[in-house]
Amino acid sequence: MQNIFIQNENQRMILGTVKRFVDAEVRPRAAALDAQQDPEKSFSWEIVERANEVGIRTMTLDEKWGGLGTDSLTTSMVIEELGKGDIGVSVIFAQTLKIAQIMQNALNDEQKARVLPGFAKDPRGMLAIGITEPDNASNYFLPYPTSFRTTGQKTNGGWIVNGMKHFISNGNRSSHYLLFVQTEKGKPLAEGSTCFLVERDRPGFTIGRVHDKMGERLANNAELVFQDCFIPDENVVGKVGKGFGVLAEFFPQSNAYAGATILGVAVALHEKAIDWAKVRVQGGKPLIEHDGIRAQLAEMRMLIDASRSYIHRACWLADHQDHGWDKTLGVLPKAMASQAAWKIATWCLEIHGGHGYMKEFGVEKLVRDAAAFLHSDGVNRTLFLKAANFMFQK
Ligand SMILES: Cc1cc2nc3c(=O)[nH]c(=O)nc-3n(C[C@H](O)[C@H](O)[C@H](O)COP(=O)(O)OP(=O)(O)OC[C@H]3O[C@@H](n4cnc5c(N)ncnc54)[C@H](O)[C@@H]3O)c2cc1C
Repeated sequence: MQNIFIQNENQRMILGTVKRFVDAEVRPRAAALDAQQDPEKSFSWEIVERANEVGIRTMTLDEKWGGLGTDSLTTSMVIEELGKGDIGVSVIFAQTLKIAQIMQNALNDEQKARVLPGFAKDPRGMLAIGITEPDNASNYFLPYPTSFRTTGQKTNGGWIVNGMKHFISNGNRSSHYLLFVQTEKGKPLAEGSTCFLVERDRPGFTIGRVHDKMGERLANNAELVFQDCFIPDENVVGKVGKGFGVLAEFFPQSNAYAGATILGVAVALHEKAIDWAKVRVQGGKPLIEHDGIRAQLAEMRMLIDASRSYIHRACWLADHQDHGWDKTLGVLPKAMASQAAWKIATWCLEIHGGHGYMKEFGVEKLVRDAAAFLHSDGVNRTLFLKAANFMFQK
């Protein structure tokens, strides 16, 4: 399918590099890594290092920090391309690219000088964001008048942090984290939480369980555990008590990037369905010549095209907010793309008949992967409620 949003040769070159990387480094490894029983063994440092060599890991950083300074639209195309090869690999880099972009905007000059050069040089430098807790998830999306259980107590020169986060993408693999902590007791998290920059080797910070997941296995998700962890004042991102301001101000494209990841899976499923429909003969002719199947393949294409247009619009407007950005674009594109991917997954499975259910055909992995973003980056129903709150004052 032609991508009408590609505007220049530079974008074409970047996407060509990413496609070659996916063909050479991701596709040949994905099924075997996915099949590992131990979730930590499904992760590959080799893939991260190869991505680093071709400039993918750092591409959202400005050139002065060693990156390519890719805009949000181009980045979403890269994330989709990675997702076509494997959703976990797409998540690894979507998180890292997104958080690098956020850090560049949200960190002060001293923090940037302290963190970004080291991150740029480290071939295994990865980034994560810790918000979700066992008791607080949809709560922070809406947000309800509740508090984070991860708390910060003020002390001389910083904060003593205790508590835990869970489900965190890249949680056990990252060099730096953005962590959301309740710093004002008794206040709802929208008013009393603070965002901190946390280094992987900070005393008092350890990794808990690495979650065993249904799909998206090439990326790891883990618990972050804080026991009397001292975080200095210099690591406060933005202002104390204004953590949600950081979320609202610096994450405009986050949801669309999540949409791009799952869109990649939808495209892979669609291609698989077409390939199968061309070779499988029933009723004396290939499935693709049966009207019911042809119509379904066209409907899949509509869902993919519409989701991509929504994602691209959200990304472009996130970078050009005076051209008509509205807050629903920060929550709805992922909901649309993940619903589309889930529908396409069930149709692809159906078109494959019994073969789709057999692991050897590769549809089964994609179906497990397609479920990931019904919940990741917010459960879709919660995101619809959030959009409604933007649209209609309560
Ligand atoms: C693969 C994966 C990766 C993730 N990565 C990260 C990460 O990197 N960082 C991070 O911080 N978090 C991460 N998360 C957490 C993710 O954001 C949460 O799982 C998500 O917000 C849902 O939270 P929950 O699972 O606790 O569901 P809950 O919040 O318990 O929701 C359960 C159900 O209740 C519904 N519900 C909740 N409130 C309402 C309401 N008011 N009205 C109607 N229905 C409601 C929800 O829609 C849902 O259907 C990740 C999750 C997954 C699965």
